[in-house]
Amino acid sequence: MTMKAAVLDGIDQLRLKDVAVPEPGPGEVLLKVEANTICGTDLRIISGAKTAGVRPGVVLGHEFAGRIAAVGDGVDAPVGAQATCSIVVACLKCDTCLAGREHLCRDLKLFGYEIDGGLAEYLLVPKVAMDHGNLIVVDRELPATTLALAEPVSCCLNGARQVAVQPGDSVVVLGTGPIGLLHVALAKKAGATTIIAAGRPARLEPAERLGATHATAATGDALTREIAAITGKGADAVIVAVGDLTLANQALQLAAIGGRVNYFAGFPKGSSAPVDVNLIHYKELVVTGGSNARRADVAQAVRLLSTGLDVTSVVTHQFPLSDLDTAVAAVRERAGLKVAVLP
Ligand SMILES: [Zn+2]
Ligand SMILES: [Zn+2]
Repeated sequence: MTMKAAVLDGIDQLRLKDVAVPEPGPGEVLLKVEANTICGTDLRIISGAKTAGVRPGVVLGHEFAGRIAAVGDGVDAPVGAQATCSIVVACLKCDTCLAGREHLCRDLKLFGYEIDGGLAEYLLVPKVAMDHGNLIVVDRELPATTLALAEPVSCCLNGARQVAVQPGDSVVVLGTGPIGLLHVALAKKAGATTIIAAGRPARLEPAERLGATHATAATGDALTREIAAITGKGADAVIVAVGDLTLANQALQLAAIGGRVNYFAGFPKGSSAPVDVNLIHYKELVVTGGSNARRADVAQAVRLLSTGLDVTSVVTHQFPLSDLDTAVAAVRERAGLKVAVLP
């Protein structure tokens, strides 16, 4: 049996191909993919801007939801059940894994980078991922395009944990792409009472819909003044959700004394930005980062999505897998928010 799959043969060579449907061996599971959302990272993988851990010939796609189509020997999983997967397959043995940061494992393998991903009709969950408990079977069914968001939500949870938003906090989210909007929704869920989203004019209304109490297209000094006026003392938490170097120092300026700043977005490889380190020194800021997510974060993301974290509106476009090029172009042109491909 063959299937359609989006295979990355090389830089700018993402092709829809007919490939063999994988056969689940002992301990493995075959998922029938129902949705795969595309993110900015996929574009960076396609263009060659991101190469670490990417295997030529891989099936792209790391935000997917599906249904168990077949199981190999020794697997006790219900065929037909809706499921997704933690995409991080860590060694669970290195110092980083043992310190509780499996998502930064020194021998990390990711679905959609090294392991064939979700832009295909079927996806094989290999034995190592099954043994590690990466497969998550959902208790309560969700729209496939919503379940696919468990991956980006899990990454945001990892970042959000580091700024630990408390009820009553003021939170600034810089950047209103899908990731910024998910951070807005999580800040609301955590009980923040002031949530300021700063980004492009077209994204202000979506930001308000997801929970921003203030949405602004202001930038630079005007943005700093606006946030100072709203918060009075500066923000308890600032999340940088877009890899814009001009925000590196501004994020520190926006934080209150004792505030927490999270550089969640990846910045262009090799880039640097000047920061006034005295802002960290005198305000005693806590500065953190964030990359990928643990298996437990994905499980928590699925729980949140199943129990009322409503981010469905983030997915604005849907295309069949046969329209792969159109779907990728829609992400590139930022036609909407999140683009989903339905195999
Ligand atoms: Zn992604
Ligand atoms: Zn490891």
